[in-house]
Amino acid sequence: MKTTYSALPIAPRALKDLRTTDDAGRPTTPFTDAEGGAPLRCCLRRGEPGERIALVSYAPLRRWASEQDIDPGAYDEQGPVFIHAEECAGPDTDALPFTNSHRTVRRYSAEGRILGGRLVEDPAAFDEAFTEAFDDPAVALVHVRAVEYGCFYYEVRRG
Ligand SMILES: [Zn+2]
Repeated sequence: MKTTYSALPIAPRALKDLRTTDDAGRPTTPFTDAEGGAPLRCCLRRGEPGERIALVSYAPLRRWASEQDIDPGAYDEQGPVFIHAEECAGPDTDALPFTNSHRTVRRYSAEGRILGGRLVEDPAAFDEAFTEAFDDPAVALVHVRAVEYGCFYYEVRRG
């Protein structure tokens, strides 16, 4: 679905690291996904059967905070994400991905602190949730996450 906000895939520099060693310090183990369907955070689409992918631990807030030169402190966390095992082209559309299920939009301040969140159940309600988040001048970015698993899907930044 179309939106005025952009979903950010995992950045190329982080992907380069993650394809060798993940953010938990574990060596990355690529595999062929026979069935497909894994939500890929590099291309922001589901994998096709037979693609080479890897499940790695990723620390989105830590990565963002290091770009901003801030310390997220105890808010730093890492969790499992699927990525392509080798260098890939990234998203081929700017349509908002992974809106097929209910999600949490978690808000973070410029200091990397959680400022609350919102449950989004309707694919059409993502825009409203982002607008609501960024209407608060204290919100610097949001994470879109799975509700039951808590897994990070992608980041949306102000402006
Ligand atoms: Zn990819």
